[in-house]
Amino acid sequence: MGIRDKTCRSEGCLVPAKWCEAHHHTLSWLHGGRTDTKDGKLLCSWHHHRAHDDTYDMTLMANGDVRFRKRT
Ligand SMILES: [Zn+2]
Repeated sequence: MGIRDKTCRSEGCLVPAKWCEAHHHTLSWLHGGRTDTKDGKLLCSWHHHRAHDDTYDMTLMANGDVRFRKRT
C-alpha cells in the first residue's frame, strides 16, 4: 500500500506513507476482513483512530480518499 498510497488517504492529509498504518476500509480485520491492498487504506495514526471512532463518519470519495466528519 505504501507504493500506491504516498500519503495518508484522508482528504488533504500529507503525512507520508512510511508513518502511516494500514486500515481495512470495508471490513475490519477483527471482523473477518482480508489483508488486501485493494481493501486497505493507509492512514496516519491520528486518522486511523478517527476511522475506529464511533463519533466520526467516514465517507469514501471518488478518488479513493476518505473524508472524516464528526457526528452531530
Ligand atoms: Zn492523516
